[in-house]
Amino acid sequence: MQLNTPIQEIPYVGPKHAKYFEKLGIKTLKDLLFYFPRNHEDFSKITPINQASTEEKYAFQAKILTIKTYRSPVKKMFITEAIIEDETGALPVIWFNQRFIIQQLKKGYIANFIGNLKNAKKGLILTSPAYEVISRNESSSLKKIGIHSERIVPVYRENPGVTSKYLRFLIWAQLKNIKDIADFLPKEILKRNNFISLARALKEIHFPTSLVLLKKAEKRLSFNEFFLIRLFLEKQRKFREQYEKSYSVPFQENLVKSFVKNLSFPLTIDQKKAAWQIIKDLEKPYPMQRLLEGDVGSGKTIVAAIASLSVISQGYQVAIMAPTEVLARQHFNQLAKDLRNIEITLALLIGAEARILKTNDKNSKKIQKEKLLKNLANGTIKLVIGTHALIQKGVHFKNLAFLVVDEQHRFGVEQRSMLLNAESGIKNQENNNNFVENRKLKIDNHQRPHLLSMSATPIPRTLSLVFYGDLNISQLRELPKGRRKILTSIIFPKERPKIYQFIKKEVLSGRQAFIICPLIEESENFQARAAEKEFLRLKKEIFPDLNLGLLHGRMKSKEKKEIMKSFQDKKIDILVSTSVIEVGIDIPNATIMMIEGAERFGLAQLHQLRGRVGRSTFQSYCFLLTDMPIASVSARLQALVTLEDGFKLAEKDLQLRGPGDFIGNRQSGIPDLIMASLKNIELIELAKKEASMLLEQDSNLNHYPLLRKKIEQMERKIHLE
Ligand code: ADP
Ligand code: MG
Repeated sequence: MQLNTPIQEIPYVGPKHAKYFEKLGIKTLKDLLFYFPRNHEDFSKITPINQASTEEKYAFQAKILTIKTYRSPVKKMFITEAIIEDETGALPVIWFNQRFIIQQLKKGYIANFIGNLKNAKKGLILTSPAYEVISRNESSSLKKIGIHSERIVPVYRENPGVTSKYLRFLIWAQLKNIKDIADFLPKEILKRNNFISLARALKEIHFPTSLVLLKKAEKRLSFNEFFLIRLFLEKQRKFREQYEKSYSVPFQENLVKSFVKNLSFPLTIDQKKAAWQIIKDLEKPYPMQRLLEGDVGSGKTIVAAIASLSVISQGYQVAIMAPTEVLARQHFNQLAKDLRNIEITLALLIGAEARILKTNDKNSKKIQKEKLLKNLANGTIKLVIGTHALIQKGVHFKNLAFLVVDEQHRFGVEQRSMLLNAESGIKNQENNNNFVENRKLKIDNHQRPHLLSMSATPIPRTLSLVFYGDLNISQLRELPKGRRKILTSIIFPKERPKIYQFIKKEVLSGRQAFIICPLIEESENFQARAAEKEFLRLKKEIFPDLNLGLLHGRMKSKEKKEIMKSFQDKKIDILVSTSVIEVGIDIPNATIMMIEGAERFGLAQLHQLRGRVGRSTFQSYCFLLTDMPIASVSARLQALVTLEDGFKLAEKDLQLRGPGDFIGNRQSGIPDLIMASLKNIELIELAKKEASMLLEQDSNLNHYPLLRKKIEQMERKIHLE
């Protein structure tokens, strides 16, 4: 059997199961061996029957004295009953509706049984245990060692047609082939860090010989991933710096200084630092790839505006892309305000319409989309703001030097890859060996724009180290002066009337409020209907004298726009909304954020929602409603009450919920054990250190062909996606 043998040729698989395996991404024997367990259960300890006395899970090894099946007279269930016995005592066992058991377990067999003991009327009974036959013969010389018991047992993520037990059975039989897997880690690294070999790690991850070795295996395998990603990122960065081209934008000191001086507020130190980092990047002849992280309200837009100003003053174009129409419009208005002292033409391009505005005119004008596109292509429009309409077919720029993407993670995978294509103009389809050479050639005559992504969802440090490379992140940790702390509290159902009273009082004193409806998994439709219902209830029963508005994802863009406008113009007092409101809306007069079913949202999302208020000098409030005071839920909500800083909340979220929220769990294809290691900062720092040391020594990995091949595979994959 070879490592690349197709899965269906492995004994006990066949074409039918191969289909199921394909769904798990397993196509070859090697894939199977790299399908890591989700976790392990320690059944290495067999308990003598007379020592089991409490209602918990045990593993026994015992002989079957009697076994029979019958149908229960009342419920017509199939019941299988057995008595099992070891040297210390006997125990009754019962299974329900498992008719096949009688074929597999016979009187006289010795088997391992793993299950829960329950206290029944006649004493302790073992209920529905898992079992594994150890011997069909009473002479114990034929006893085999359990795969599913008598050891630390791997538990795999299951899919239809592929159970954990089946995987255990298959992988156990193929363990001997692990020795053919070559170790790609340099010997020095193995030695320096006392890592176990890859083959050993693979064996131990499936069938650990001890908990200590299991830990070592997890460490080694997680290190593998982190190390490869770091090598890959470093190489990408070097490649970009060496071969990719962009517009080099010289720093316009006087222009930028006078612009900053004319702002109605002083920049925070973090804003200055971030702007400076971006300006420095823009000077370079290769494309920037920078992430600007900052809490809601930290003032990211003005940082992007300063950078845009430099670019525009050199005659190049700037595009700013937002995830929703509402937000694109808001950026358009905000930038018109920020740039009012400078004479330029801004354009807005969203699905529904196109507009332009000269900064010395008062109002923007609608124009035909075709006309706007023409003016983008000939370079008349220097600054365009829009949704993903900006990257649709037919949109061409004359000299796009700077692309800003707000809330990049809000864009779907497809849109992101379109963005990458629009950005690079390069289609990579090569499959041949000389991949890097080819890329160099293709890039030669292309200038890519500098890219700035902005995000209000900070990435915890471990994750940004692994996935981004820390050099390219700017952070706004400090909020502009004069912002007040938003008073946050957890509210239980019986206090709801009190909160409604409070909202009424605030509204009567001139403020506005958001009420967010719970997150419902089922569908957008469901969510919209629930919001409608809540809106009607509130309007009729709670706030009959106030003006209420409704906003949800199923509404037409024009309706949403009208509602937002009325809210902005204070014609609406209370906006009832689904979480569509989450992204970036700026309504300084709103001071209350009431979130129903708060426990259903992630910490990051709750923090985003809370950030919709507290944007003025008025005191703001955030009410987290929950009717589930479960410990883990409260821990999350409690974190929100005590922590204001989005960066700290992100770290907390990682600790409490794991990295799924940040990198989109299941789809990411990252095994659980590596996900868990994403909390391990030391291991990640180590991988980073080892990767850069290695590249310093041998930047092309000439002495490490296996490693080089792996990295090239990663490059190929990224560019084909
Ligand atoms: P976000 O980072 O959430 O995108 P914005 O860029 O929308 O934040 O900024 C929020 C508000 O704060 C805007 O009205 C902006 O004009 C204002 N602002 C930005 N920087 C400062 C500052 N240094 N001092 C005072 N207000 C500021
Ligand atoms: Mg913003």
